Amino acid sequence: MKDIILLKQGEVVLKGLNKRYFEQKLLTNVRKRLKPLGNFHVYCVQSTVYVEPEDDAADMDAAFEAMKHVFGVIALTRAAACEKNEDAIFEKAREYLREDMENAASFKVESRRSDKSFHMTSIQLSQYVGGLLAEAFPDTRVDVRHPELVVHLEVRDYAAYVHAAPVPGAGGMPVGSNGRAVTLLSGGIDSPVSSYMIARRGVKLVPLHFFSFPYTSEAAKEKVIELARLLVPACGPMCLEVAPFTHIQEEIRAKCPEEYFTLIMRRFMMRIAERVAERNSCKAIVTGENLGQVASQTMEAMAVTHCVTGLPVLQPLVGMDKEEIVRHARAIGTFETSILPYEDCCTVFTPRHPRTKPKLSEVEAAEAALDVAALVDESVNGIERIWIDLES
Ligand code: ATP
Ligand code: MG
Repeated sequence: MKDIILLKQGEVVLKGLNKRYFEQKLLTNVRKRLKPLGNFHVYCVQSTVYVEPEDDAADMDAAFEAMKHVFGVIALTRAAACEKNEDAIFEKAREYLREDMENAASFKVESRRSDKSFHMTSIQLSQYVGGLLAEAFPDTRVDVRHPELVVHLEVRDYAAYVHAAPVPGAGGMPVGSNGRAVTLLSGGIDSPVSSYMIARRGVKLVPLHFFSFPYTSEAAKEKVIELARLLVPACGPMCLEVAPFTHIQEEIRAKCPEEYFTLIMRRFMMRIAERVAERNSCKAIVTGENLGQVASQTMEAMAVTHCVTGLPVLQPLVGMDKEEIVRHARAIGTFETSILPYEDCCTVFTPRHPRTKPKLSEVEAAEAALDVAALVDESVNGIERIWIDLES
C-alpha cells in the first residue's frame, strides 16, 4: 500500500455556490502539475484533495515538493496507508510517526471514517490507538485539549491512513480562477514579486517585457526568461511576450524634453500592455510599482502614467518597504537572479532631473512631438513570444 498526499484547500472552501468552480480549477492545476511526475489519481472529498499514486513509478517526493507551490492549497501532508484494522493502524502510526511522537511532549489522536461500515466508531478508534501509542511512547503524555502533536487517522474505502501535522502550502486561490492579467516583468527585484502575488490571487499571467536591444543585451533578456521560468512552479506555464522598445526610446530621446523621458516611456509601456491584454483576454495590468521608490512612482507620476489605459493597474507592492519586497523575493526564489547585474531599459536613458510632480497637460504636450499610434503599432507587431514551462 502506498503513501498518498492530502491537500487542504484554503479560501476556496469559502466560496459558497462557486465552490465547485474553484475546486475544479484546483484539481485541473494539480493534475497538470503532476503529469510529468507519473500517474496519479486526483480527487476531492470534503474540501480535501487526495493525490494517490497509481503505480510505483509515480515520484511521490517530487509530487509533494511540487504541491507546496500550488496556489489554492493552504496546507499539505503525506499520509501512510495501511490495512483497515485497528492493530495495523496502530503499527503504522508507531512506525510512521516515531520521530514526531518522540519529539512531542503531548499528543492526541483524531480519527475520521468515510467508510461507515468500519466496526469501530471514530472515538473508539482514537481511544484504542491512543492508548497503545501512550504505552509505546511513555515519555509523551496524552493531552486532548492542547496537544503538541495530533495524530490523524482516516478510515477510507480501500485503506486506512495515518498522518501528522501538515506543512503550510502556498495559499491563495487556484491560478485561472480569477481571470487573466498582463504583468510587466523587468529584470528587477520587484516585478517577479508583484507577478507572484497577483497569480496567488488566482490570476493567470501573461508576462510582458520591454526589450531595448542593443542598449540592453541578450543576457538581460535571458535573465527575464529565467525569472519567468522561476515563477512557473507556482504560476503555471506562461507565454512571455517580448516587445521591442528601442525605437520608442530613441524617438523620445530625440524629440521630447529630457525631464519627461521616463514618464513618456512608461505611458508607452501601458499602451502596449493594453494591446497585449486585449489580444489575450486580460482584464488588468500588473506592475511592481512602489510608492515613492523612484521619481516615476509618485502619485502624480502614476496618475500621468496610468491614465493612458482604461484597464485597472494592479500594484501589489505599492505600500511595501524594500526590505519586505526583498524578503518576498528570497522566499519565492527570484532574488538571486534579479540581482544579476544586467541593465534594464528603464536605466538606459534616465533623465538627470526627472519630474516628480508632472502635469498631464505638459506631458501630453511633450508627447505631441511623437507619432504615438504608429510607434505602439510597430512595437506590438514586433512582439516575440517565448513559451516558458518547467523544462523549457
Ligand atoms: P523592478 O525591480 O521590477 O525592475 P523597479 O523598482 O526597477 O522594478 P521601475 O524600473 O521603475 O521599478 O519599474 C516599475 C515597474 O515597471 C516594474 O516593477 C515593472 O513592472 C515595470 N517595468 C519596468 N521596466 C520594465 C521592462 N523593461 N519590461 C517590463 N516591465 C518593466
Ligand atoms: Mg526596473
